[in-house]
Amino acid sequence: MSLPVRLRFAPSPTGPLHIGGARTALFNWLYARHCGGVFVLRIEDTDRSRLVPEALDDIVSGLRWLGIDWDEGPDVGGPYGPYCQSERADLYRHWARWLIEQGQAYKCWCTSERLDMLRHVQHQEKGKVGYDRHCRRLDPTQVAQLESSGAPYVVRFKVPASGGTSIQDLIRGDITFQHEQLEDLVLLKSDGFPTYHLANVVDDHFMEITHIVRADEWIPTAPLHVLMYDAFGWKRPVYAHAPLILNPSGKGKLSKRTQAFTDEGQEVLVQLREFRRAGYLPEAVVNFLANVGWAFGDDQEVFTMEQATPRFELSDVNPAPARLPYSKLDWLNGVYIRELEPSRLATAAKPFLEAAGLPVDDGLLLKAIPLVRERIKTLREAVSWLDFLFIDQLAYDPSLLVENRVGPAGSLLALTRVREVLAALTDFETERLEAALRTLVADLGVKPAQLFGIVRVAVSGKTVAPPLFGTLGALGKDRVLARLDQAINLLSRLVM
Ligand code: GLU
Repeated sequence: MSLPVRLRFAPSPTGPLHIGGARTALFNWLYARHCGGVFVLRIEDTDRSRLVPEALDDIVSGLRWLGIDWDEGPDVGGPYGPYCQSERADLYRHWARWLIEQGQAYKCWCTSERLDMLRHVQHQEKGKVGYDRHCRRLDPTQVAQLESSGAPYVVRFKVPASGGTSIQDLIRGDITFQHEQLEDLVLLKSDGFPTYHLANVVDDHFMEITHIVRADEWIPTAPLHVLMYDAFGWKRPVYAHAPLILNPSGKGKLSKRTQAFTDEGQEVLVQLREFRRAGYLPEAVVNFLANVGWAFGDDQEVFTMEQATPRFELSDVNPAPARLPYSKLDWLNGVYIRELEPSRLATAAKPFLEAAGLPVDDGLLLKAIPLVRERIKTLREAVSWLDFLFIDQLAYDPSLLVENRVGPAGSLLALTRVREVLAALTDFETERLEAALRTLVADLGVKPAQLFGIVRVAVSGKTVAPPLFGTLGALGKDRVLARLDQAINLLSRLVM
């Protein structure tokens, strides 16, 4: 019987959730769900100096927003907990000691001054850099002396002096490293806290993780990790190192960026919360991420995660560095916006309008949202399209009311007639409004665009606004007449 498939996302809470981290989480989650396995959230918080208190909340809420759920984790518990490494320190110390007893690790008393000096000399000589294994060569008497001195020490892993190690990677095939290229990395720091390497390997073993999907920046340390599994006598997991994400220009790594920046004139978002704040829908962002290094097939770019799950194989992920297809994101988001029920779209857009300081009326928003559904590509764009609906007193440049071909007096006359016609309507319903205004166009002998342009400015304060008749209907008779009065007033002053 094969073991159940178990995957984990293991972020370090050192900052807001990065879009690259979200992609790693997504691939782990998709594969766990594909296999009917378990997805674990583990928090790697042993590097106390780099902790950012708000980061954990940001990571958790970001994953939830994307629709990525976990079966085990710090908040939901599970049989392999605790799921925060800071609560598992004894376990790591135990296994560090065990490795020393087995002769697979050793204590190192080298001071930071000695290590700095070593690095300096190695740089000058342009030779191999890294720890020179000084303490690995100490004899038992020297070790005993140093131990009794109480001097601080770290624990280092003993990498075999010769030979090589291969790791099995589902995305890249086998990757082989020669041991002489590897360093005796620190497993336990002098404060008794583990390094990433020790905590990560111990936890992956005890949490029975079968597949490790993570960013390719971890490839260089993967051989050390598998050597540790071997030293412990534990079964190695299967690796899948996801392709590097490049800046949109193709120059440089996106993973090096910590927040939004401009790349060749284009704004590039980096933190997941920046995507959220910019008005992207989670369905669109998750779809966008699934397209980085993986393809749904059949040339289909728009798909849900339910559709992707049965198809998602790690071995299909392309190892080549990939750019995030930012240029596709607006388009994708537009597709998802158009698919949303008006009530859900109104609910999603409301926080953006409120953040812009607008007192949103839910009924009015629901009436107006279908008018802009085809026009907006982000929820944030709803603000510039719909703000005029929620403003009491419009402020705009009166010259916008003047239609060039008829001039101020002609515009005033047209608007006065519009007011009369609309005041006489009892039913402010789109078709009735359209019929009434089109009749007026014929009566006045102007072009539809001329008349409608003046009315548009009068009711919205803008030259570009949602479709006119729907807008008039949404605003309602009283507010439309009040806005026409305001415009007539402004125009009269221009004519005088
Ligand atoms: N805590 C590591 C990180 O921040 C985890 C790497 C891994 O998945 O092994 O990315």
